[in-house]
Amino acid sequence: MKNSVIAPVLDSFSRPLGSLRLSVTDRCNLRCRYCMPEEEYQWIERSEILTFEELVTLAQVFISLGVDRLRLTGGEPLLRRDLPQLVAMLCESARAPQTIANASSPSAPASGLRDLALTTNGLLLAAQARDLRQAGLDRVTISLDTLRPDRFRELARYGDLDHVLAGIRAAREAGFAALKINSVVIRGFNDDELADLIALGQSVGAEVRFIEYMDVGGATEWSESQVVSRVEILDRLRERFGAIEPLNLDSQGAAPADRFRLADGTTFGIISSTTAPFCAQCDRARLTPDGLFLLCLYARRGLDLKHPLRNGASPDELRALITESWRMRRDRGAEERKTLRARGPLFQIEDLRRDVHLEMHTRGG
Ligand code: SAM
Ligand code: SF4
Ligand code: SF4
Repeated sequence: MKNSVIAPVLDSFSRPLGSLRLSVTDRCNLRCRYCMPEEEYQWIERSEILTFEELVTLAQVFISLGVDRLRLTGGEPLLRRDLPQLVAMLCESARAPQTIANASSPSAPASGLRDLALTTNGLLLAAQARDLRQAGLDRVTISLDTLRPDRFRELARYGDLDHVLAGIRAAREAGFAALKINSVVIRGFNDDELADLIALGQSVGAEVRFIEYMDVGGATEWSESQVVSRVEILDRLRERFGAIEPLNLDSQGAAPADRFRLADGTTFGIISSTTAPFCAQCDRARLTPDGLFLLCLYARRGLDLKHPLRNGASPDELRALITESWRMRRDRGAEERKTLRARGPLFQIEDLRRDVHLEMHTRGG
């Protein structure tokens, strides 16, 4: 159901609260060098992790405020036990018109979830794709940066490329139509595989989206020299494929990918968060597995929603907390990072050890 009838909650720059990334676990079965390069990590206590019921309650509150796109992420979301059950619960409770009592405007019009998506490294997807689809998941994005088994191991340190490829095929067979493959492009590592990744996308019916390497929390090995910019990605693809036609913005609304079409009709996207950030249109909220509400991928602090929730806050009270926080939002992390003269990793390892919430794998990509 479309929720355009809801008056949007706007931040300081008039950006609506429109989408939510739910990080359902901070655990991961890979250790990608651009995200989790360390040998050891501290994890959020299990008792602190939101239950499915708590996640659904918070999702409903966000949806009643105008969020209509939700993405499950992590860590590796497929490590969260019984994830299809969460998908089913979200669909059941959130697709229907919202029924949460709203004391301030009891006759507030109905809202609803119009897109429920998942980002996964794909390792466990073959076993779960069908159940996820049947539970009501709309879309899957699989992260895959290389098609060479030796590089895969070097980059991710665990896992098996064949399992990811099997996961992609299983997702297709399960009926996920709008499949996407996310590839972080790193100079000297996989920037010679752009055409191969496009070819993989063609063969499995998925759209590839190249992501510029970002200096997010956790990327302690990041350096500017390893970033391959959108301009350069396009130059290289032009050399290989000829003319490239720019398309309009991603069909999912305020999504960050610029889309393009090759002469043979193949489409692909580029997410240029590092060299051409999209903060001006950013409508994304994030929730960590233990209920910290973040206004930006680069935010240093968040708003704890778990304790109010566990202490019995009503939906109205939770709505008030979220609304107040979003209205004060001035975050434009990636744009600010871009203005720095000397740019290095966002956080040092000591900062990350002090607060796991600063990690990309905790806040969700
Ligand atoms: N584990 C799942 C996966 O890898 O798809 C979901 C979580 S992961 C944090 C979400 C996305 O963030 C992935 O597509 C990953 O490639 C991307 N990512 C992680 N670190 C990044 C970085 N330093 N720069 C750009 N993208 C990054
Ligand atoms: Fe895990 Fe995803 Fe981060 Fe890789 S990018 S370490 S798969 S959370
Ligand atoms: Fe949105 Fe922050 Fe990313 Fe900018 S850096 S696009 S404000 S999440």
